[in-house]
Amino acid sequence: MNNNCLFCKIAAGEIPSKKVYEDENFYVFHDINPAAPVHLLVIPKHHVPSMQEIGPQDAQWLGRMMTLAPKLAAENGCTPGPEGGFRLVVNTGVEGGQEVAHLHMHIIGGPRPWDKRA
Ligand code: ADP
Repeated sequence: MNNNCLFCKIAAGEIPSKKVYEDENFYVFHDINPAAPVHLLVIPKHHVPSMQEIGPQDAQWLGRMMTLAPKLAAENGCTPGPEGGFRLVVNTGVEGGQEVAHLHMHIIGGPRPWDKRA
């Protein structure tokens, strides 16, 4: 836990959020400023600033984070099948458009058109 980190505080329940899923390692909640009809954020509970700090030792939990996406997308309103789907985005660093320095994966979907922000 990083006491200066917004998403650490959200995962710890110290700052309110609209939670959709939680397990031992991950916390998932609605983005406060959604870019599409479905916009979720998946975060690891441990503090990792960004994908720039990731190495081979992280393969297992990162893989698990990816495998949460289709289940969470389906359960939260993304349209199933090839005509539906969703977008996964991990903005990384300032030049990558990352504003919160705790690694997070956006799950964005729902009927188009969407805004292009994320
Ligand atoms: P960007 O804003 O460019 O998408 P990030 O990839 O760092 O940058 O995403 C941070 C996301 O966190 C934004 O989509 C923003 O709306 C969301 N956000 C910020 N504060 C909160 C909060 N308190 N609860 C839920 N989502 C939040």
